[in-house]
Amino acid sequence: MERARHDRLVEADHRHLWHPFTQMQEWLAEDPVVIDSGDGVFLVDTLGRRYLDGVSSLWCNVHGHRVPEIDEAIVAQLGKIAHTTLLGLASTASIECAEELVRIVPAGLTRVFFSDAGATAAEIALKMAYQHFQLRGDAERKEFVAIRGGYHGDTIGSVSVGGIDLFHRIFKPLLFPVRHAPQPYCYRCPLGKTWPDCRMACADEVERVFEAHAGKVAALVIEPLVQGADGMIVQPPGYLRRMREICDRHGALLVCDEVATGFGRTGTMFAVEQEGVRPDILTVAKGLTGGYLPLAATLTTEAVFESFLGPFESRRTFFHGHTFTGNPLACAAATASMRLFRDRRILAGLPAKEEALSRALAPLGAHPHVGEVRRRGLMVGIELVRDRATGEEYAFELRAGHQVALEARARGAILRPLGNVVVLMPPLAMTEPQLAELGRITRESIEAVAARI
Ligand code: PLP
Repeated sequence: MERARHDRLVEADHRHLWHPFTQMQEWLAEDPVVIDSGDGVFLVDTLGRRYLDGVSSLWCNVHGHRVPEIDEAIVAQLGKIAHTTLLGLASTASIECAEELVRIVPAGLTRVFFSDAGATAAEIALKMAYQHFQLRGDAERKEFVAIRGGYHGDTIGSVSVGGIDLFHRIFKPLLFPVRHAPQPYCYRCPLGKTWPDCRMACADEVERVFEAHAGKVAALVIEPLVQGADGMIVQPPGYLRRMREICDRHGALLVCDEVATGFGRTGTMFAVEQEGVRPDILTVAKGLTGGYLPLAATLTTEAVFESFLGPFESRRTFFHGHTFTGNPLACAAATASMRLFRDRRILAGLPAKEEALSRALAPLGAHPHVGEVRRRGLMVGIELVRDRATGEEYAFELRAGHQVALEARARGAILRPLGNVVVLMPPLAMTEPQLAELGRITRESIEAVAARI
């Protein structure tokens, strides 16, 4: 019965769906896991199998699935209205959500522009920064600086400031030019240096880019503390602060993309707090609704906001918006999720959880096929290598990370790797024993794959 339903669904999936970031030829030959429901930090498939949600359903789930407080907030909102526009109208749910958000972001980020994905939040940040300088009469500031290995989404603007060759190279002719600076990737330093002796030469390179384009840079766009999608690349301490100083020296805005790092993932509500940095523009999405619904926000300061003010005929308006900007259902979920952070004292519980995960992964630190275990808060990247001594990579075709994910699936956890990097990003709600279990499954899966490839 269960099997017949599963087979029918898979057949229909294979007939109609096109999955993101997926080689569909391979997908069509596989029998996929079909998720039917969720239960706390577990995902349940059509065959009744339960899996730990090891990557928070793509880095967004925070409090687990089917959280009564968030479910009830959405149902209560449904009893009022599911959607109304912010173009020319205000709405209760979006006002309450914006107030709650401004309360928890670094002081001074007081203006909230809603959209529905990390990519749209990035697009808005870019257009906002650009128009801000145009409106101020600083018309030469049209350029953006970004960091290699960065990821900000898949729309053309966000891909332009992205820096992941595998995803972005093919679209190059469609992109606007962006000045990319070397990646702060200490395990494979692009400058061939070693931290801390390097004295953060990669940050000096960012400054050099600014110097070469003096007076022309509108903004630096960066993922603070951790570049997620390129393999959980953890920046050396002080790097983000240096970025803030460089932007200040050169009169540019600092755009921090906390779509992945926001809402407790790195141990603080926002990653920028750890370096005492206040960006001029902050983007959030994923965990904003607790991972329930598509909602994003681009926050900025009064200084940027004021550039856009003027009489109607001045045409200083920010001509940007989406149909579902400030969707009330999503806003209600977000408000409930942010309140849960307070009511459940989520951040206070994180150090013990980080410690539990760290302890479970510790044996991997010496594994002959693990080059590095990187962790910031509950964001973890385990870089698999053919040879630990030389750092030699596994060939792309071997799909080492994918093989580990398949092993983990058989052991009861869902992981999604990034190339040869095994990623863990559990919901903040995962308990210490569950984190230990996730760590054990990951370890065993890596050992199983390393033994055969
Ligand atoms: N920015 C960062 C740092 C991300 O990690 C992601 C997604 O992984 C995005 C932006 C894009 O978000 P979305 O997939 O919601 O467009």
